[in-house]
Amino acid sequence: MDHIKDGWFTEICTLWPGQAMSLQVEEVLYNKKSKFQDVMVFKSKTYGNVLVLDGVIQCTERDEFAYQEMIANLPLCSHPCPKKVLIIGGGDGGVLREVVKNTLVESVVLCEIDEDVINVAKKFLPGMAKGFFSPKLTLHVGDGFEFMKQNQDAFDVIITDSSDPVGPAESLFKESYYQLMKAALRNGGILCSQGECQWLHLELIKEMRTFCKTLFPVVEYAYSTIPTYPSGQIGFMLCSKNPETNFKDPVKSLAKEEMETMNLKYYNPEIHKASFVLPEFARKVLSEA
Ligand code: SAM
Repeated sequence: MDHIKDGWFTEICTLWPGQAMSLQVEEVLYNKKSKFQDVMVFKSKTYGNVLVLDGVIQCTERDEFAYQEMIANLPLCSHPCPKKVLIIGGGDGGVLREVVKNTLVESVVLCEIDEDVINVAKKFLPGMAKGFFSPKLTLHVGDGFEFMKQNQDAFDVIITDSSDPVGPAESLFKESYYQLMKAALRNGGILCSQGECQWLHLELIKEMRTFCKTLFPVVEYAYSTIPTYPSGQIGFMLCSKNPETNFKDPVKSLAKEEMETMNLKYYNPEIHKASFVLPEFARKVLSEA
């Protein structure tokens, strides 16, 4: 519990030197080392229950939708018929909850390395873990990098909802992983990965964009705003095997009724388009990729 002092959790991490988000703690609900990482859930004063892995905030009940809805709908609305979806990571269940709402999606495989995260989500994050009870789901507990090697030409959309590139998720930010995803995607397949933050990791994002462009005809970067991620934002790397894909003008524009049925609180067709508009400092660096 070295991140909690005087009733506050502070997210100190070498990935964002010199800054740290703090949340006031009501009660620590769970805190144990799994085979892969330190897993903690605390009840916060103003953000609901919060999942923390190795001292890094993964999701909070209050603002998780800003991330889950975008990482799911940016690729799904860009694909004409996303029947078969793969999620790597996603142990809290939030991305899964959003993906199974899409009526075109027939089956979802979720591959999460740490079963403790799934169990903790079911107990303390029921609003996110509800995704695990979908009949569309096939659950696989294991390393996403290894899992990808077993699959060729199998998925229309692959979403990598991973933690950061230190610890178990390190391999999920490498070119070799994107080569495996390309092979696992069917013709016209699309991938969307948690893409870190333009305020903090622009060089990493540029590096990833560079190797993605050698592998895919279409590569774009988008972001959403979310209070409890470092610098209040998180990005998404999107790649398509279909040269016709235009992420900024998605093939599917959700109607009002669909958005109501899906209970969307962040994603809408306008913010889909706007999320690819980058501030000049980031646009410039990524245009060099
Ligand atoms: N939304 C969060 C974010 O943007 O940081 C991520 C949420 S989710 C909890 C991240 C999940 O990735 C964790 O449950 C973690 O166990 C899982 N994970 C990390 N490395 C993995 C790997 N190599 N294969 C499969 N799952 C992995």
